[in-house]
Amino acid sequence: MDRANIVIIGGGVVGCAVARAVSERWSDVFLVELMPRLGMGASTRNSGVIHSGIYYPPGSLKARLCVAGNRMLHEFCAEHNVPHRNCGKLVVAHDTKQEADLEHLAENGRANGVEGLRIVDRAAVRAREPHIEAAAALEVPSTGIVSAEDLIKTLARMATDHGASLLTRARVVRLDPRADSVAVTLVEGDAGDGAQPSEETIEARCVINCAGLYADEIAAMLGNHSYRIYPVRGEYCELVRAKSYLINNLVYPLPHADGLSLGVHLTRTLWGTVLVGPTADYVAEKNDYERNRLPVEEFMRRAKSMLPEIEAADLQLAYSGIRAKLVPPGHAGIADFVITRDANVPRAIQLIGIESPGLTSSLAIAEQVVSLAAEILT
Ligand SMILES: Cc1cc2nc3c(=O)[nH]c(=O)nc-3n(C[C@H](O)[C@H](O)[C@H](O)COP(=O)(O)OP(=O)(O)OC[C@H]3O[C@@H](n4cnc5c(N)ncnc54)[C@H](O)[C@@H]3O)c2cc1C
Repeated sequence: MDRANIVIIGGGVVGCAVARAVSERWSDVFLVELMPRLGMGASTRNSGVIHSGIYYPPGSLKARLCVAGNRMLHEFCAEHNVPHRNCGKLVVAHDTKQEADLEHLAENGRANGVEGLRIVDRAAVRAREPHIEAAAALEVPSTGIVSAEDLIKTLARMATDHGASLLTRARVVRLDPRADSVAVTLVEGDAGDGAQPSEETIEARCVINCAGLYADEIAAMLGNHSYRIYPVRGEYCELVRAKSYLINNLVYPLPHADGLSLGVHLTRTLWGTVLVGPTADYVAEKNDYERNRLPVEEFMRRAKSMLPEIEAADLQLAYSGIRAKLVPPGHAGIADFVITRDANVPRAIQLIGIESPGLTSSLAIAEQVVSLAAEILT
């Protein structure tokens, strides 16, 4: 049986950020990812936006880790040559009522420590985004965009350089808490390619659950049944290349009052394409990315109030991603990130409900996890 100081379950952006951070401090770190490559879950099926932190309740983990993570991510990307753009964004209002909502959003952002927020008028919106229709907008200068794929590769490379072992095609199937460790059983090589899968157990002094959509199932393997993750699909369309000139940077509507999503927005990617989305709909299964996809007309309808020129013929369906929500269908509200040592298995650290802004917050989340791991390992 292998022995480890730390086993991280899940190789998305959060698991990789954690692997990089803990491997700076401890030896014998393993990361276990069931897919053939790192980052194939939510981490590369998102908008790639480095959020500012304006939306979340003051004092929440989402607010604190997003604002800190935004700053850390901009610095990290610049230092390690991860493609990113510090482009800012506009949240647009169409009438007086929405203008008041913009003010509230700005106040919330300031309470969270977001700097440089200001309301601008229609002419200023037009100067930045000539095709956008709005009465006014909230300008958010600290919002940016990042290549999640490159970020994950860089974090993984740094973790490996620090001596961590990153295993892919390896599924954690059982967790057995012992007196001074947790036995982590994994099945390796179950790739459906005819090769015989092999089972192995690693005895870990500390286990970190970064399993995204499946984090509730990993918690349950430790006997903790208090979490349930509800999958919420977000679908994207893309503007056809000939129409990508319609958007220069990032343009958002006001967020949905139900807290489910930030609303269908317009994102110019680092590659010059323009994403329209994501939508937000509960789905029954955690891997249901494609069944009953919405038609392009639906995206056109939602984007038209911001971008009146958009037509269905300008759109083609793109990818979708699935959010790990803690709020059940039919309930409004924002659940906070859960980042805690398990009440009954104190050698386990649970990261549950790491939905948006998880990409932005990843480096700050990793710092928080290092503090919890230090309680266990020192
Ligand atoms: C549509 C959409 C848009 C978003 N937009 C943004 C945005 O613009 N900005 C932002 O900051 N955030 C955004 N997010 C949120 C962000 O993508 C997530 O918060 C972040 O990717 C979570 O990373 P993760 O590592 O926790 O999860 P994941 O990337 O899902 O990684 C979890 C990993 O665990 C693995 N795993 C699960 N079970 C096991 C097991 N038993 N054994 C081994 N491995 C296992 C999975 O295969 C997976 O790779 C968005 C999310 C969605 C869905």
